Amino acid sequence: MSDRVLKIVIHVVRLILGCTFILSGFVKAVDPKGFSYKIEEYLQVVNAQFPDWLNLPLVAAVVICCAEFVLGIYLLLGLRRKFTAIATLTVCVVFTIISVLLVIFHPVHDCGCFGEFISLTDAQTLIKNVILLGLAIMLMRNPQVAKPLVPEGWQWFVSLYTCVFIFVFCLRSLYYLPLIDFRQYKVGADLREMVFPTHEDIKPEEISDFMVLDTLSEDQTAQILFKKEPTMLIIAPLLSEASAGVAERLASISDWCNDKGYDIYCLTASPLKDIRKWCYYNDAEYPFLIADHTLLKTMVRSNPGLMLLRDGVIRNKWSANNLPEVEDASVDEKQLEAAVGNNGKILLKILLWYLLPMLLIIMLSNIIRRKTKSAKIPKVIKTLKTPKDSNTSNNSINSITTKNTKTMRKKIVAGNWKMNMTLQEGVALAKELNELLAADKPNCGVVICTPFIHLASIAPMLDTNVLKLGAENCADKEKGAYTGEVSAAMVKSTGAEYVILGHSERRAYYGETPEILKEKVNLALANGLKVIFCIGEVLEEREAGKQNEVVAAQLKGSLYDLTAEQFANVVLAYEPVWAIGTGKTATADQAEEMHAFIRQEIAKQFGPEVAENTTIQYGGSCKPSNAKELFAKPDVDGGLIGGASLKAADFKGIIDAWKE
Ligand code: PEP
Repeated sequence: MSDRVLKIVIHVVRLILGCTFILSGFVKAVDPKGFSYKIEEYLQVVNAQFPDWLNLPLVAAVVICCAEFVLGIYLLLGLRRKFTAIATLTVCVVFTIISVLLVIFHPVHDCGCFGEFISLTDAQTLIKNVILLGLAIMLMRNPQVAKPLVPEGWQWFVSLYTCVFIFVFCLRSLYYLPLIDFRQYKVGADLREMVFPTHEDIKPEEISDFMVLDTLSEDQTAQILFKKEPTMLIIAPLLSEASAGVAERLASISDWCNDKGYDIYCLTASPLKDIRKWCYYNDAEYPFLIADHTLLKTMVRSNPGLMLLRDGVIRNKWSANNLPEVEDASVDEKQLEAAVGNNGKILLKILLWYLLPMLLIIMLSNIIRRKTKSAKIPKVIKTLKTPKDSNTSNNSINSITTKNTKTMRKKIVAGNWKMNMTLQEGVALAKELNELLAADKPNCGVVICTPFIHLASIAPMLDTNVLKLGAENCADKEKGAYTGEVSAAMVKSTGAEYVILGHSERRAYYGETPEILKEKVNLALANGLKVIFCIGEVLEEREAGKQNEVVAAQLKGSLYDLTAEQFANVVLAYEPVWAIGTGKTATADQAEEMHAFIRQEIAKQFGPEVAENTTIQYGGSCKPSNAKELFAKPDVDGGLIGGASLKAADFKGIIDAWKE
């Protein structure tokens, strides 16, 4: 798959996963109580015990819906990409396992993935979760493809605002009633038609559990539903758990109903002793009817809640926290009906409270980022020619650096021993070099990159103030059954600090593609190694004038998914392949031209500040005799040295080229 196609695919994957998680988190946050009932069912299946005071199902419901929503936003905005990919995969694996168990054992009816919003069969849930798992795996393999929509410095705000928003929204849904009623008992629903359908297209089983009995077990359903006059229903699934603080309000509502001549009942699933207790302690004079516990929990997400019925139709509903004010005798039933909240408008307002600040932050942060970037661009960058232009003439080289900025950049001379030196020879060379540099301190960074077998023996011998250690390669896999490979973590564990990646010999002889190198770079950086990343064109490409194009593609193919922070640990080494080990050096002007171009590309991708701080080494038949001329160029910040690094004196000669 080409890079472009992969990018598009991963964007789509992110979009699908992000929207799914946002939807699933949001609809659960609309009705967290409903979702907590589902969790209760799951906990009952595994016979989980938890103390009542903890209310684990509700706590878990709030945590899960908030986590899903936040994860969805992270996916959509491309935030904390590695963490997000791991979290998404973990969630999808857990969901898939649960849905397999659902298909096999059918422990609960309806998985509850989308709360009460969408009801899926077990098979549909499994298919959905397998698809999401596949997408999560794809994302996990390419977590860095998406660019964050919000710059790093602003991401904490987005995270905090999103967490606070969804948590407060959950609390609001719990305090009042869900803004969207996903169940049958929504305001406007014709209960009579649903319980005693006169039209064939209404399935009676949809609401077949609606039945209320008096304390003598006489069915009172029809009496309530066929009443033309208003009927007030206090819904208290379990009186022992009902908030008794509202008993006084309920009593005045009861008085108001009596004054108006309306019926009022308390529907409960509580045993008689609890009903008596409630009446005794709260002076409740309203009659009680018995109904199914689940039915009552479904009718109003509050204990107690209140429902106004007229002519079999639900006219309004209230939670215990916003019971209607009826102390004033002039309040009539029409006013109570008219007080139906405009939930659509409220929901829109709430969503705007989230979306507007988020859009503002996304726009503002990007404008500020762009502004700071261009403010930091030295004057000369504004006159930069396009890559094609800068390719055409030596005289048109427009370096974004000056001598001053160059001195601020780290200069590094690194040796690449390649497949040379036995262990004993290597140890002796490292020792000799270490002594030379300890005695005559270099005024540039010096690194020797050795075969793997040398690393652990050489690392303890080096004075890292003057000489650092690196490997010549590392694996593109984290760990496991990859015989003969050496991982970035293993390299790091030897004491090495650097690793060369993308060397032309590895690209040519070992088939290392930009994708493989991308993996290697990510793993090396993740394991705390600094990367010396090699780029460069072959002779035919230079002869065809394609060197800029080639080098730009190499940069883009393996490094452009890094953040600026990660990129700060990358040293670039421009090595024209035609100059490696051939004795043919690029002229200092050729090197400078390409280095300036590379820096310009880095500025485009990561900003001029990063570009100015990026060390770009030259490699390819660099020797003590030509090092000074090469290093004198403003954009050449050192060298990657092959053959000449195998002799301490030659290597030292190149290092000394940095001395006046
Ligand atoms: C190299 O292989 O990185 C290199 C620059 O080799 P040489 O100096 O031998 O050309």
